[in-house]
Amino acid sequence: MTSPTLVIQTAFLGDVVLTTPLLAVLAERHGPVDVVTTPAATPLLETHPAVRRVIPYAKRGADRGIAGILRLGRALRAERYAFAYLPHRSLRSAALALVARIPRRIGFADGWRLLYTGSRRRPATGHEVDRLLALADVAPHHQTAPTIGLTAADVAAAEAALRAGGITGAFVALAPGSIWGSKRWPHYTALAERLADRAGIVVVGSAEDAALGEEIGTAVGRSGGRCVTLCGPLTLRQSAAVIRKAAVLVTNDSAPLHFAQAVATPTVAIFGPTLPSFGFGPRGPRDQALGVDGLACRPCSAHGPARCPLGHHLCMQSLRVEDVLHAIEETGALHRRD
Ligand code: SF4
Repeated sequence: MTSPTLVIQTAFLGDVVLTTPLLAVLAERHGPVDVVTTPAATPLLETHPAVRRVIPYAKRGADRGIAGILRLGRALRAERYAFAYLPHRSLRSAALALVARIPRRIGFADGWRLLYTGSRRRPATGHEVDRLLALADVAPHHQTAPTIGLTAADVAAAEAALRAGGITGAFVALAPGSIWGSKRWPHYTALAERLADRAGIVVVGSAEDAALGEEIGTAVGRSGGRCVTLCGPLTLRQSAAVIRKAAVLVTNDSAPLHFAQAVATPTVAIFGPTLPSFGFGPRGPRDQALGVDGLACRPCSAHGPARCPLGHHLCMQSLRVEDVLHAIEETGALHRRD
């Protein structure tokens, strides 16, 4: 049985997680949806209850260019979808739905309107979850959280990794990475040292963050604390399962922030060149969003540049460890879970 609805979302991992409330609404209306997404994001959706099938699209790899769009578009045409929803405002997504000859193609008015059959106004403000829900005519609802379909095997793998690292009680998860260099807060090691006598420390991230994870682990070990670095060995869903078990996650403005929202873990989110008002901040009742006020240069871009264009990186350098410790206290997380 085919799904009548295709969603094409090939943006970053965090964007894919933030699209899950839209998937849930569409699945309620039409039944579980099919989703075209990147190979990296595929595991985040393939176990999601709103999703029937995930179709990986290596837009920068084997499927790149017009040949890839034509090839995948033809394959999608055979599925005879009735609706395509296009939360990502890329020409590539619009072209794919067009080549697939999906009769109703719904995108945002500030995307590639001429290639759509219906468009919706994308709210200029509000949280990204709500902005994406506008594609399905859903009014903003501040309680809507993203979700990740964790399996029992994901949870078991996460618990085994924590046990193997000697983490048996309450722990703080740290996610020090970001693909955008200027969004990395540079004081995670000092923060971990300060937390070492209060909780275990677990560093999560990709293999690229492993060296920093090791540095944090060494510093915590010197302070007499317990730290395990899980940067690289776990899948995305297993990493989300680790975050789910954390008392609190400290993260930059990057994908782990959205993972934490999806698994309802209290979050301290650190914003440098970007602002929470861009729509990607945490919004759980105990969550904290931190940033340096009064910097004339801030914000300096929508995503955060690779490096600070002014060289001083004050938006992150001047955010103190004490500020983050205070924010952790404000969540109450270390007093509530053990
Ligand atoms: S220009 Fe300002 S906001 Fe942008 S990275 Fe540098 S310090 Fe941060």
